[in-house]
Amino acid sequence: MGQTTSNLFYLVTIICFILALRFLSSPTTARRGNWIGAIGMAIAIVVTLAHSGMHIGWRIPVGAAIGSVFGLVGARRVKMTAMPQMVALFNGVGGGAAALVSLSEFHNMAPEPGHLHGDVIVAVVASALIGAVSFAGSLIAFAKLQELIGGRPITYPGQKFGNGLLIAGVLAAGIAMIAGSEAQWLMVVVLVGASIFGVLFVLPIGGADMPVVISLLNAFTGLAASATGFELGSNVLIVSGALVGASGTLLTLMMGKAMNRSIGNVLFGAFGQVQAGAGAAAVEGTVRSVNAEDVAIMLAYAQNVVIVPGYGMAVAQAQHAVRELADELEKKNVNVQYAIHPVAGRMPGHMNVLLAEANVPYDALKEMDEINPEFPQTDVVLVIGANDVVNPAARNDPGSPIYGMPILNVDAAAQTIVMKRSMATGFAGIDNPLFVLPGTAMLFGDAKASVLKLVSAVKAL
Ligand code: NDP
Repeated sequence: MGQTTSNLFYLVTIICFILALRFLSSPTTARRGNWIGAIGMAIAIVVTLAHSGMHIGWRIPVGAAIGSVFGLVGARRVKMTAMPQMVALFNGVGGGAAALVSLSEFHNMAPEPGHLHGDVIVAVVASALIGAVSFAGSLIAFAKLQELIGGRPITYPGQKFGNGLLIAGVLAAGIAMIAGSEAQWLMVVVLVGASIFGVLFVLPIGGADMPVVISLLNAFTGLAASATGFELGSNVLIVSGALVGASGTLLTLMMGKAMNRSIGNVLFGAFGQVQAGAGAAAVEGTVRSVNAEDVAIMLAYAQNVVIVPGYGMAVAQAQHAVRELADELEKKNVNVQYAIHPVAGRMPGHMNVLLAEANVPYDALKEMDEINPEFPQTDVVLVIGANDVVNPAARNDPGSPIYGMPILNVDAAAQTIVMKRSMATGFAGIDNPLFVLPGTAMLFGDAKASVLKLVSAVKAL
């Protein structure tokens, strides 16, 4: 295949990727976005193989086939709650691939003096460095989320100084390469040093902040891929890497904003390291527990009900039961809406995906800013496995670690029913004063089992 024809196809790929991002930004079109992105990727792979013709040999198709089997099996088997760690793993592999391409380019080009200067060597160093940081950092993020290593921040004296020194050494080796040195050991210093930096950079970050870190590392991988595009003279890689870099950066900033944390605080704050909530006011009061039959009566005779899903709904896989409950209530002319907090669950869009899977109509899902003014007119709020995202301490207690984080103001409703298994804390590890407010009652138990009990009790009325 000629250069012009393949460039034309690559343009189609780039358009597919841009459209994919556009469609992925809304739950109604996300599935289409995914397909368009996959088609774009398939075009890029086929065109690259066709363009390279016979030079490619058997190794690349065999490698691609093995990778595809792993990807397919992994994606089919992974549970929704384990999705963040799978994203971490896939992202790390992308960063590692970029670093390996740099290693091979440097190795192949070094014997030809003069080839390693100018923009190509800058790209080789950048993609090796960023790719290796992303690879090693993503593996640590994966291990933390998979609980292979403890999720607590691991800190030690002089950590920031040591990390600073390490990255300075790596940069010095990179600069020496850019300045013209073709010594192979410099590449080893960059790759090994950047990998160690990736490990040390992610270790001190608490498991709770991992999704934000993964999103940032994802942006790094995009940049590394883009730099690889400059090395290989591949426009499609430059543009798609830049798209990943930009979208990963935006997502990181949006997640930080939704948790009211600066990215600097996420990366260097070691959240969860101190006794969680040490400065927060102690929560005292009486917890009122109710049974499913009483809650069913409240719900069936209400006019407006708002369901607040959280991480516990994902753990219990209660989304289908929740949909069934909403259907039963709607049969009784109750107006049911869902309040979606931007960081409910463990990854952006977690609740939207689960509820979409249960065929909940998209227009029933309300974003935080849209639903918050409606809580004073709400008769019953059903909090299903959510905790931090409804914690009024974020609004009222300046000593709370989540003070300032925007939350769903469920305490403004006439009645709030909180469904969880115990009085245990959520992700941020802090107590929730909502549970002892006079308007709150707890329905203890696994979310799915409790919702199913509510369904039968509502049906029986
Ligand atoms: P939380 O983690 O605050 O609380 C979840 C609650 O669900 C727990 O208190 C737990 O209580 C309960 N639960 C767990 N399993 C079950 C079950 N089987 N049945 C019933 N209840 C269950 O979740 P939220 O969704 O409220 O908040 C998300 C948190 O994650 C926030 O702190 C957010 O900052 C953080 N986060 C989210 C990201 C995102 O992108 N979405 C990214 C990074 C962080 P119990 O054990 O008593 O049942």
